[in-house]
Amino acid sequence: MENKRIVTGDRPTGRLHIGHYFGSLVNRVKLQDKYETYILVADVQALTDNFNNPEKVRKNVRELVIDYLSCGIDPKKSTIYIQSMIPETAELTVFYSNLVTIARLQRNPTVKTEIAQKKELFGESVTYGFLGYPVSQAADITVLDGEIVPAGEDQEPLIEQCREIVRKFNSIYGEVLKEPQIYLSENKRIKGLDGNDKMGKSLGNAIYISDSPEEITKKIMGAVTDPARIKKDDPGNPDICMVSYYHKLFSSEDECKTICEECKAGKRGCVACKKQLAKNTIEFLRPMREKREYLEAHPEIVDEILKEGTAKAKKEAEKTMKKVKKAMKLGY
Ligand code: SF4
Repeated sequence: MENKRIVTGDRPTGRLHIGHYFGSLVNRVKLQDKYETYILVADVQALTDNFNNPEKVRKNVRELVIDYLSCGIDPKKSTIYIQSMIPETAELTVFYSNLVTIARLQRNPTVKTEIAQKKELFGESVTYGFLGYPVSQAADITVLDGEIVPAGEDQEPLIEQCREIVRKFNSIYGEVLKEPQIYLSENKRIKGLDGNDKMGKSLGNAIYISDSPEEITKKIMGAVTDPARIKKDDPGNPDICMVSYYHKLFSSEDECKTICEECKAGKRGCVACKKQLAKNTIEFLRPMREKREYLEAHPEIVDEILKEGTAKAKKEAEKTMKKVKKAMKLGY
């Protein structure tokens, strides 16, 4: 185990799908063996664009933790905690707000993109809370002395903003905070069943960790294939077929090779190909689904994990805030 701490997390706004699984969870499961890991359930951050729907956020807190545990996050190795239960983060966010200009936040490419995507919610005028979420994210990371933040390339501007805040704080108040580094995820972005680069609920193109075998089968039967292929004996192009793409995630190398060859030779029917994919996907997700069902039937286990994790994270946050306040001459 390396003597460095990871801080990472997600907004509890919906169930996790296989894009999350291959995109970040596989990585976190590996990293928890190497680094001390803290995973926050970012309910306060979720409210920045769901302030009018607190029920949704509340409902998804436990769901998110169940997904984590089902996918292999081990509470003995990873501390899972609730952001809103660490008031020190909110306090540190206020202190940091003096160190960031509005213009700098408006220039942050990740925030810019997200504001454009949320036009329906914000109209022409974004809220102070949403514009400032990189500041509270910096507080999330640094209040726990996070040194490593696993994230995708699209998150790089947020980590850079955090590093700027740390450097500014340390240059004014003394060397108190640790400057975190991004750990670029080696895992890929998974396309939706419709071929869209993005997978999500609003697009209706995702397979969720919690999907039943029937739901998985129904979704896969509707996946986009080679549109030029009409009859079974027409030669197909597996390179533009989402079924073939998903077989690479859930089927063995030998199966993928055979599928490719038979498709190109017009010796394979799309219906049979999809049925085989559905079977393999259901089997791949089976242990996660079973663990999920167990935890859903035993919510007290999840609540206890959150209670213990939050208490542990709070203690760490209190230690940091003592140092921060002393440096800022606020320790009365
Ligand atoms: Fe896609 Fe399989 Fe049909 Fe080929 S046979 S087009 S790989 S679904």
